[in-house]
Amino acid sequence: MSITAIKGFNDILPGEVEKWQHIEATARDVFSRYGLSEIRIPILEKTDLFARSIGDTTDIVEKEMYSFIDKGENRVTLRPEGTASVMRAFIEHKLYALDPVSKLYYMGPMFRYERPQKGRYRQFHQIGAEVTGVANPRVDAQVLTMLSQFFAALELDEPSLEINSLGCPECRPAYRETLKEFLRSKLDSLCEDCRRRFETNPLRALDCKVEGCKNATAGAPAMLEHLCAGCDAHFASTREHLELVSTRYRINNRMVRGLDYYTRTTFEMVTGLLGAQSAVAAGGRYDGLIADLGGPSIPGIGFAMGVERVALLLDAAKFSSSPALFIVALGEQAQKSAFSIACELQSGGVSVEFDYEGKSMKSQMRRADKLSCRYTLIIGEAELASGRAPLKEMATGIQTEVPLTPESIVCQLKS
Ligand code: ATP
Ligand code: MG
Repeated sequence: MSITAIKGFNDILPGEVEKWQHIEATARDVFSRYGLSEIRIPILEKTDLFARSIGDTTDIVEKEMYSFIDKGENRVTLRPEGTASVMRAFIEHKLYALDPVSKLYYMGPMFRYERPQKGRYRQFHQIGAEVTGVANPRVDAQVLTMLSQFFAALELDEPSLEINSLGCPECRPAYRETLKEFLRSKLDSLCEDCRRRFETNPLRALDCKVEGCKNATAGAPAMLEHLCAGCDAHFASTREHLELVSTRYRINNRMVRGLDYYTRTTFEMVTGLLGAQSAVAAGGRYDGLIADLGGPSIPGIGFAMGVERVALLLDAAKFSSSPALFIVALGEQAQKSAFSIACELQSGGVSVEFDYEGKSMKSQMRRADKLSCRYTLIIGEAELASGRAPLKEMATGIQTEVPLTPESIVCQLKS
């Protein structure tokens, strides 16, 4: 029996990987225009980092982490998300001392023990951004605009931006109590998870997907109506700045993020095209996180998008790449000549394929066709003797004779 991959861990194969490369290149391009630099963080961290930042009563920490004890008896975890690691690095290397405003992005695999299904895997990939050092809502609007620009650059109409505010340590506790009062009489109709979280994290009931919870919380008070003056002004100014640059958004006052560190602005990029896996990207402000992790009191805001979900929205056909030229060679001498011409063209920047094994003309042409090569060059004994060979543009069928030198072939490919 052959060995297969672990459930929920995927290979990304040629044909699909071109989409990923395009997504990554687009992120690098768009993010760098907004002044972000890349940071590469380890995949394994101390378990405490996530327990302390994400929160004990969150889905991630309660049941989704890949944690184990290593050979040195250390409690370690495969990172379930990127923000905690980026902030750990930010504090550890005192990045705030280099520049009061730090703008970072990362990309790479994350690990969560969830039930695998379309758009939900155990190893998945995120591209995320973190901007620290600015409390002003202008930065919220800029981060949201950058995220919208990223999807526009991918030429996607979906997903669309939803925003909310989760308040701050000043106003959220009172709202929590108000919400608990409201939910108390409805406890019987809440799902088991929401009942269990009622004391520790009652807000989660608001975005619970279970039908009973949706009904029970239908008329629940909203955080937006219970913001303190500071949070209210922050939200209004974020909206004003989004409108100033025509970044489209919708308010979703039931949005609750699954991580504890969020304050004030929270947001999601949602789509109707992926069933229950509707959030393509998500994030928010985390003004207390850096201090909670032992750093200075510096505000921050960030997001992460799920690359698999972005890829599901893109059409693979648009990103496949095909060789510029296929050299069909007949006979031992012609094959040697094809080999060296291909090699010179490849080192000169042209993508070239040829046959390695002396197959028939028909079989070589079939492969050229299958690879969707733009041109074919046919070399046989007669062509070797005359030093000229027919170059055919596959789409039009137009054929031209070219001298059998890499320079003349390149010239013809470019014309
Ligand atoms: P969901 O509600 O779908 O579980 P989440 O709130 O757990 O998402 P975040 O922790 O905010 O998600 O992560 C940001 C993004 O990462 C999500 O919007 C999604 O696109 C992606 N993501 C999260 N978990 C997975 C997963 N198990 N598989 C694939 N993508 C995921
Ligand atoms: Mg989740």
